Amino acid sequence: MNYGRTFNFSAGPAMMPVPVLEEIRDEMMNYRDSGMCVMEMSHRSGVYQKIIDEAEADLRDLMGIPDNYKVLFIQGGATLQFSMIPMNLMKNGKAVYIETGAWSKKAIAEAKKVGDVIVAASSKDKNYSYIPDCSDLDIPEDTDYVYICENETIHGSTWQTLPNTKGHVLVSDQSSMFLSRPCNVSDYGLIYAGVQKNVGPAGMVIVIIREDLIRDDVEDLPIYLQYKTHAENDSMYNTPNCWAIYCCGKVFKYLKSLGGLEAMNKINLDKAKVLYDFLDSSKMFRGTVEKKDRSLMNVPFVSTSPELDAEVVAATKAAGYDNLKGHRSVGGLRASIYNAMPKEGVQALVDFLKKFEEEHG
Ligand SMILES: *Cc1c(COP(=O)(O)O)cnc(C)c1O
Repeated sequence: MNYGRTFNFSAGPAMMPVPVLEEIRDEMMNYRDSGMCVMEMSHRSGVYQKIIDEAEADLRDLMGIPDNYKVLFIQGGATLQFSMIPMNLMKNGKAVYIETGAWSKKAIAEAKKVGDVIVAASSKDKNYSYIPDCSDLDIPEDTDYVYICENETIHGSTWQTLPNTKGHVLVSDQSSMFLSRPCNVSDYGLIYAGVQKNVGPAGMVIVIIREDLIRDDVEDLPIYLQYKTHAENDSMYNTPNCWAIYCCGKVFKYLKSLGGLEAMNKINLDKAKVLYDFLDSSKMFRGTVEKKDRSLMNVPFVSTSPELDAEVVAATKAAGYDNLKGHRSVGGLRASIYNAMPKEGVQALVDFLKKFEEEHG
């Protein structure tokens, strides 16, 4: 059933899988005979404890998270991590950042408030349209970590090969690609993702952190900003975002039912190909990112002029394809096609753009 829903190409908050929304609807008034909605439930209750425990267990299972990593559910979105990471991980006060777009740029600005930031590679010279070669970076010995944004939501690039950190801890912002493809967690010291892009409702970040990186000697930091606080209290130091955890847990189970992350990768490759093949063959539209570095999740593209871009955005919206306007900082168009966007949505958009091109070409 469609419920009159639109194909929503928003970069976030974004589409959720319909079967998950249906389950949430069915449990809305009385969650499994608890007599209440999950929104109304004490986070200290046994019934809620089971929800958060299962969510964590399913995520561990999906990603194959090793036992020496903690999974933390923290509020403040992905943005708070721009500060928490340097505050907690800079022991020597030095970190290497790779600048590949708007989100890594923001992270760099926040880290600079905490310590020395070395931008070891950047794709700024070509408006962040590629991932720089990071196979042999100059990394000082006392660097605390190397930071990347693994999928740049606004500029539409993604890392196919992780940087060579030369033995240093790798930190990755996976917000807009989390659970879209398999991930070898032990390649990283810390992975984090704001969940409203590819998983659930806004207002929460998931942090996966190797236990030895959780420090005891950061008592001077506000208690909420210490990873230790969240780790020692199993993400329940204060009231967590109970609702988001519940919804994310449902999505984890749903992804498992589809065959896990290998299966998601296949589905996402197949889905993105429909759009990229069109962009590569079109005379009116073209993708803005170098082919080898294209994101499967966020597809920025342009037509032949900003005026025509605006016309296309208006036409798509009128036809029922929502949120295709590119981010205000880059213009053009952008189709975000996360896990929950069905292939039919992408196919319908491509059919529409083809027709538009025929009529206006
Ligand atoms: C959206 C986004 C953020 C910020 O997320 P908030 O939850 O709004 O703070 C950070 N990084 C990336 C890659 C994003 O896509």
